[in-house]
Amino acid sequence: MAVFFGARSSLNRFSFLRSNVAFIRSVVAFPNTRLIFYRKSQTDGSLQVYASKKSSNPRIVYLPLDYNEQIKALLGRWAMINEEATKSSINIRRRLNFTCVFLGMDENPGTKESVFPEEHESRHLARLTFEKHSGIPVLAVDISGNAEFQDLLDKIIDDAEFTSSITDILNLSPIDAAVFSYARMYLDWLLKNQFCPGCGSSVSPIWAGTKLQCTNEEKEVGKDGESIFKCPVRRTRVNNVCFPRIDPVVIIALRNSKGDKILLGHNARRKQLDKRFFSCFSGFMELGETIRSTVIREVWEETGLKLKNNIKIIKSQPWPFPANLMIGCIGTTEEGSENNITTHLDCELDHLEWFDANYIADIVYGRPTDGRIKLPQKGSVAFELIKMVTDDCISTKL
Ligand SMILES: [Zn+2]
Repeated sequence: MAVFFGARSSLNRFSFLRSNVAFIRSVVAFPNTRLIFYRKSQTDGSLQVYASKKSSNPRIVYLPLDYNEQIKALLGRWAMINEEATKSSINIRRRLNFTCVFLGMDENPGTKESVFPEEHESRHLARLTFEKHSGIPVLAVDISGNAEFQDLLDKIIDDAEFTSSITDILNLSPIDAAVFSYARMYLDWLLKNQFCPGCGSSVSPIWAGTKLQCTNEEKEVGKDGESIFKCPVRRTRVNNVCFPRIDPVVIIALRNSKGDKILLGHNARRKQLDKRFFSCFSGFMELGETIRSTVIREVWEETGLKLKNNIKIIKSQPWPFPANLMIGCIGTTEEGSENNITTHLDCELDHLEWFDANYIADIVYGRPTDGRIKLPQKGSVAFELIKMVTDDCISTKL
């Protein structure tokens, strides 16, 4: 079965070590710690990743920490302030003009399953050992607005550039795609969350960039005479003011019960862009819903059709634009309901059409067709689901 974009993670996150300041100190002192870089695009503000285009497919640049003394010094300063911020309420972001997140460690460098499958030099395979754990640590650094970092990268690396092009992103290797998604989602969350929702004070990224803490230290007397934080968020026991947010989205490929037709839709917003573009059905999960109930609601709202009970939840995929979890499903419409399609309930789609499964199979497998419709890009979850429902239909008929 296809590996969905971003779903093949090779890093062990060691989430329990994020708050261990001695560990983070050792990460920024270890020569083979790797850094990946992001920055905000100057045109649309989206986060771009620093990638090499030397080979046919782009590859994220994983810069070893010992590659440049100035970069090493900047990271050392970050670790020092990160440590200080866990004990006090200083705002790291007021002291540094870059953001850093500890992503985890690659425990199997040099193997097929590793982020670093092709490293041959032994120094590039060196692993940090901390207590009973070891691996190559990876940190994500957002250098948006930091001219010093940008200049350093320009000086020391050839053939790499910041990119957020969807074609580049979808051409990353499955392992790079997972690192890209993971890092981008954390950095985007940090960029968008600057203030405490409880008291409006600034929040500071602590625990190596994975927790936001309110910096308001004001206290008052609680009902039992104890001293408590004035900020209603900070006084709770779990005071991560804002956990990284994940927005689950269901994406559904639809077939008829006979197994010879596939229903696809054309999005009304795409009208001017490409009239030939057809895709699956999708929508955000709402509070109080299960995956299946979202599938049933979304299909009905977008097509007017009811589904049979055999909804298959296929696979999930992180999708970092900005923080989605795509849940891929296949649904079968109720027998005899095919002709009752309508786009007039939520009006999200402006055209629905049943296609012959063999016609879709021709497009999916790159065989010549009349070119009347276009499907989502290969590698996207929508494409993979359409491919799966096509295979499903063809095998049903056999
Ligand atoms: Zn607060």
